[in-house]
Amino acid sequence: MPQVIVLDPARCRPGLCPQGRCQARRRCPIKAIYQEATYERPFLGGLCNGCAKCLGACPQRALRLG
Ligand code: SF4
Ligand code: SF4
Repeated sequence: MPQVIVLDPARCRPGLCPQGRCQARRRCPIKAIYQEATYERPFLGGLCNGCAKCLGACPQRALRLG
């Protein structure tokens, strides 16, 4: 299944998220968004099913449907 969510690195600001934790990652029910350490920029793995539940969780609107 193709990945349909795109993370815009220019908009992502992990330092502005609570304790540096990606809010979109927390929202994703299948943990398709990875963040190796707090305050680091997350990245998308291959599991994303396009459910879009993460889109509204990012305060920087860094995620969009690709
Ligand atoms: S994608 Fe959004 S929610 Fe996740 S770390 Fe970046 S700014 Fe925060
Ligand atoms: S679209 Fe759904 S599966 Fe994909 S990263 Fe967002 S919440 Fe997770």
